[in-house]
Amino acid sequence: MSLRKETTIKLIRSTCVRVAAGAMFYSGALNLLRRAQYRRVTGDREGKAQVYPFAVLLYHRVNPDNDPFFPATSVKVFDAQMRYLAENYRVVALADIIKGIRQGLGVAPGTIAVTFDDGYRDNYVYAHPILRKYDLPATLFAATSYIGTDKLMWNDKLAMAMKLTTEQSISLPGVARASSLTSVPEKLSVLEQIIEQLKTLPEPEKQDWVERIVRRLLSKTMKVEPVMLSWAELRRLAHEGWEVGSHTTNHVILTRVPLADAKEEISSSSAVLQQKLDRPVELFAYPNGKSGDYDLSIQKFLADSGYIGAVTTDDRLNAQDADLFAIGRKSPWEKSVPHFAWKLQWSYWRHSSPSATQRDSESGIKPVTAAVNRPSTAADRTTTSK
Ligand SMILES: [Zn+2]
Repeated sequence: MSLRKETTIKLIRSTCVRVAAGAMFYSGALNLLRRAQYRRVTGDREGKAQVYPFAVLLYHRVNPDNDPFFPATSVKVFDAQMRYLAENYRVVALADIIKGIRQGLGVAPGTIAVTFDDGYRDNYVYAHPILRKYDLPATLFAATSYIGTDKLMWNDKLAMAMKLTTEQSISLPGVARASSLTSVPEKLSVLEQIIEQLKTLPEPEKQDWVERIVRRLLSKTMKVEPVMLSWAELRRLAHEGWEVGSHTTNHVILTRVPLADAKEEISSSSAVLQQKLDRPVELFAYPNGKSGDYDLSIQKFLADSGYIGAVTTDDRLNAQDADLFAIGRKSPWEKSVPHFAWKLQWSYWRHSSPSATQRDSESGIKPVTAAVNRPSTAADRTTTSK
């Protein structure tokens, strides 16, 4: 099939989904179906502790900038999504969901949690007032070495350099094809290519490439406004009810560094959060968060260090047999509420059979089925993939 034909089919399909979602949403049919589903799945199990499927939403930036180099959920869309959740779902803090499972109390139907990764300042400026307005809890996973600094995360550093560069083309053998940089779409396409390629490299090699590419794109040093939270802002969020979890110290992909370094990334970020926020750190988010970005030794280390659960970026709901150290999350990029509502409800429908709560095994660790690709030799490292 030609690319053009494929694109047209995709466009028609997504338009049909949007139209159908709108019709279901505005006619009230979506709500009726959801209630009917809850009645069906709860049925005679009412009163017994069950773990019903729960979703965990993953956000990064929330702001009104509409900057293609730094994708964000717009403030308007975020407000509409939170309002919809407040009216139609049971929004619960992630740690409370996990504790409910561990203590055999179950998870109620329609439960959902809201999380943010990395620690962007706009979470405090824009998302926090909206969550407060609807009285919704949230969890933020901070990469601690960036908090309170004007440092940019590696992907943001590349995005900023690509946005500002006046170079007309770039050629990076081994990383990106020779490409023109004369328009925003061209720049975005090369940026994505570079980021995906660098994610597969061991951490030092990746950092080295980032610096080389930035130097290639910009002749002067970048001067940027801080985009990450200050410690005072993070403390205020914590005092106003946000859970704060660890997302490592330097946002390294944990299977791209030796295990000892991965453990140090976890311990040092947890220690600084406990010291600065004066509260225990119970939750963890794996940087990048795909199945090859963590392994059983890391999961075990988290459990032994007192964490009660960890989240991934695997796009799925969590059912009664959920591995609490590999919780799936959904990234809601849908701009229209009907589309958002439909996709969310569809995910719950697909996981609608409950079963009795079972306590976790002693360690709380269950095997990760996905392939693990921690590099063991320098030669291996170059062949690892996401
Ligand atoms: Zn992250």
